[in-house]
Amino acid sequence: MRRPVIAGNWKMYKTVSESVETALALKPLVANANHCDVVIAPVFTALKTVADRIEGSNIRLSGQDCSTEVEEGAHTGEVAASMLRDVGCSHVIVGHSERRQFYGETDTMVQKKVLAGISMGLNVIMCVGESLGQRDQGIAENVVSGQLTGGLSGLTASDLDRIIVAYEPVWAIGTGRTATPEQAQEMHAFIRRVFAEGHSAEAAQKLRILYGGSVKPDNVAGLMSQDDIDGALVGGASLKADSFAQIVNYSRA
Ligand code: PEP
Repeated sequence: MRRPVIAGNWKMYKTVSESVETALALKPLVANANHCDVVIAPVFTALKTVADRIEGSNIRLSGQDCSTEVEEGAHTGEVAASMLRDVGCSHVIVGHSERRQFYGETDTMVQKKVLAGISMGLNVIMCVGESLGQRDQGIAENVVSGQLTGGLSGLTASDLDRIIVAYEPVWAIGTGRTATPEQAQEMHAFIRRVFAEGHSAEAAQKLRILYGGSVKPDNVAGLMSQDDIDGALVGGASLKADSFAQIVNYSRA
């Protein structure tokens, strides 16, 4: 039985005080959500303050990205995985499609970030997903398997326990257009097969695969009813405590 993960990606939204306000509003709403891991990813500048305010709760904290560099050094603008750990993060998101699309992130960079996160003891949520054009050309599976293989090479068997894959079709992110539960299930099952081939059947059975792309309170249950969907990475609907809490609570099997 894989424990679900419901993660909220707050992207580049909210000041520190707005982040704290949302996190504090969320705390009581998800306090009884023992069925899943609840994770929020505020902007870097809000992480420490939010961490202090959610201490002792069941909400876990994630960075939205980390540097490819492990050691501190002359890397202006970068934030190391160790620094995320230092402010109380247990998770980091890497390879989000917005970073791949708009900031030129390659699979090689994503792989370095995965290794950086793992080396600092973080749980790494690695995002993969095809664009609409790639889906229309019939190459969605090739794209996703390339991202998986590229991003996850060089890991040891024990590292795999801390990997979470988020399948986020680019055409469903922030568009209001979600993949159907069947479309998502088909790709999740494919991801599990690719992971089994690259690592082991046992690791693939344990791998948590989240769906992301316009997840809302009214579509999360349908998605979660699929065998290979183990949670959600939520953007827009995670910005408000009540809608994110509904997603968390409706994700109960
Ligand atoms: C995301 O940012 O990872 C995401 C899935 O966004 P949204 O839920 O808004 O589509």
